[in-house]
Amino acid sequence: MPGERWARIWQVIDQLVTAVREQQISCAGCQQTFARKDMKPLTDLPQYNTWLGLLQWFCSDCQAKQRALHLYQGVYQRENRVVAAQVRRAVLKGNPATLTLDQWLATLDHYQGRCAYCLNAPYEALEHFVPVEYGGGTTAANCVPACKACNSAKGVRLPHEIQESSRSPAAIARVSQYLMSQQPARPLDGMPTDGMPI
Ligand SMILES: [Zn+2]
Ligand SMILES: [Zn+2]
Repeated sequence: MPGERWARIWQVIDQLVTAVREQQISCAGCQQTFARKDMKPLTDLPQYNTWLGLLQWFCSDCQAKQRALHLYQGVYQRENRVVAAQVRRAVLKGNPATLTLDQWLATLDHYQGRCAYCLNAPYEALEHFVPVEYGGGTTAANCVPACKACNSAKGVRLPHEIQESSRSPAAIARVSQYLMSQQPARPLDGMPTDGMPI
């Protein structure tokens, strides 16, 4: 009977698929073995988007780790560019320019990736508390994350000039206090507290 033959063929295919899904393979991340059905290649991430990437399967824990790492590297590279551009900008003006990527990431972490002024909107721009145009440096003691609205509300003005603007005096005082805490505790002899221009 042809019907029976097809039933047999489907049964064999089904067994094969199950065998492949249950096959124990080792995770490309932690090297432990898991059933293939619980694992995945990560070809959606650029570093695994290759033929080799198709052969590298990850357990669910390692999938999450690889994705977190990718996200972190993206942030790291992007903020590295932001800091480099702002350091260059201060150097060209002859202002202090000592902000390091680590310092900037610590400040972003302090504000949990949000605007230092409204503490609400996500960070969109590195903001100089004292504008570069007024001699403000790209330093840990002068840079905070700001949203576009708060950044442009301030514009090229000194902190005391914007007391009555959209940013409350309380917010300015809070940011100022944070920045004071970023001043080097004991400046080296002959060094201004804000650091020297590079
Ligand atoms: Zn793993
Ligand atoms: Zn804001």
